[in-house]
Amino acid sequence: MKALRTAVVGVGHLGRFHAQKYAACSDLQGVFDQDPERAAAVAAELGCIAFPSLEALLAQVDAISIATPTSTHCQVATAALNAGVHCLVEKPFTLDLAEAEYLEELAARVGKVLAVGHIERAHPAIRTLRERGFGAPRYLEAERLAPFKPRSLDIDVIMDLMIHDLDLTLWLSGEALQDIRAVGVAAVTDKADMANAWVTLDSGAVANLAASRVVREPVRRMRIFWEDRYASVDFMARQLRLVERGGGSVPGIPGVAEQVLELPAEDALEFEVRNFLGAVLGREMVLCSAREGRHALAAALGVRAAVETFLQGKEAG
Ligand code: NAD
Repeated sequence: MKALRTAVVGVGHLGRFHAQKYAACSDLQGVFDQDPERAAAVAAELGCIAFPSLEALLAQVDAISIATPTSTHCQVATAALNAGVHCLVEKPFTLDLAEAEYLEELAARVGKVLAVGHIERAHPAIRTLRERGFGAPRYLEAERLAPFKPRSLDIDVIMDLMIHDLDLTLWLSGEALQDIRAVGVAAVTDKADMANAWVTLDSGAVANLAASRVVREPVRRMRIFWEDRYASVDFMARQLRLVERGGGSVPGIPGVAEQVLELPAEDALEFEVRNFLGAVLGREMVLCSAREGRHALAAALGVRAAVETFLQGKEAG
């Protein structure tokens, strides 16, 4: 991986972390940001070039991360793919499905890797659960609550936060969404800042997902129920508890065993970046393909449409 020439476009809050990971495991050439001071600061930190333009950057690299606002992902990824550069695009993949389909087809046509940064797939707890191969869950519930930050305001809380849990629901269950009911409200911005979705999958399984970007205390949790076991994931505490029928006993519940599982140490972004570079080298499948990124986006747009239907109903009533 050290031989791959890499760069990051957009080095705000998240892009700087991408650049740090590339510096550690590849030949980081440099960064580009429309804010030259920001680019210069990150380039100085990591000992790389602050490129004067996107075109100058693309001429020097094999693979990039795109961590600009969502509204610019399609334009930046189009330029990169046309220049023959592999792309890891931050989530949400794009603003709409037409952009997502366009990029998916373009990447296939030019034969370059196009991955989407659904980073919770790389969370040590989720990786551990996937490795155990428990099959499709019957019921999932998730809470993803964050304090307000003046970032990602080009998108609503569904595209900003809930999309992580929609993606995990689809990925863990291997199913398509069948029905979506949702409520949501704008609190601080002109878009939904809080939402709750009740989603049915083809198998009949159900996911109940809550997201907010206007709370005081952050929470990122998911509970996943199968026929005879239940997993509780605390993404922030990096903790995975597994409760299963049989074996030992949980006080007060006979015949039920509980364990806190040991998790791999490697952090999620490092895992995601290494996976992307492994895919560029043809050694592994990307953790989240453009197709899967499009499916998560479609689910998020479905929730948004359900929220709009709910709000119209309230107005009409
Ligand atoms: P940010 O505002 O901190 O950073 C965005 C940077 O992009 C800024 O420095 C800005 O100057 C730069 N920029 C804007 N347009 C540009 C362009 N056309 N070319 C080059 N640079 C440009 O935002 P952020 O919080 O770092 O979010 C960036 C992306 O990452 C968004 O798509 C967001 O949804 C995503 N994100 C993902 C996660 C996650 O959990 N995977 C978390 C946070 C943000």
